[in-house]
Amino acid sequence: MAEPLTLTEIERGEESCILRFSDGESFRVEYLAIRTRCQCAKCKPRQENEQRRIEFNEEVSRLVLEKPMVELVGHYGITMIWPSGCSSGIHSFSHLRNISEDLGTKI
Ligand SMILES: [Zn+2]
Repeated sequence: MAEPLTLTEIERGEESCILRFSDGESFRVEYLAIRTRCQCAKCKPRQENEQRRIEFNEEVSRLVLEKPMVELVGHYGITMIWPSGCSSGIHSFSHLRNISEDLGTKI
């Protein structure tokens, strides 16, 4: 059986971060992309249809996204603690990989 995919390293820049995964793939992902896909109870409902998603993306893009603090959650995810709010979402490794593939840049 294949090992479950994990995040092996996160390098935080000012506006984006580099995510490295256990299968050897690395991606540069904007913090904005991670915020617009936040799965917390407050943000997730705002992505449920196209209209709400557009409004949510506009709102997030107006925020000043400062470098977040990152904490590991068990063996499956991280939380990102944003100075601009919204710190309760857990970003599972598989979710981060989906964001990386959809919105990130492979490096
Ligand atoms: Zn959120």
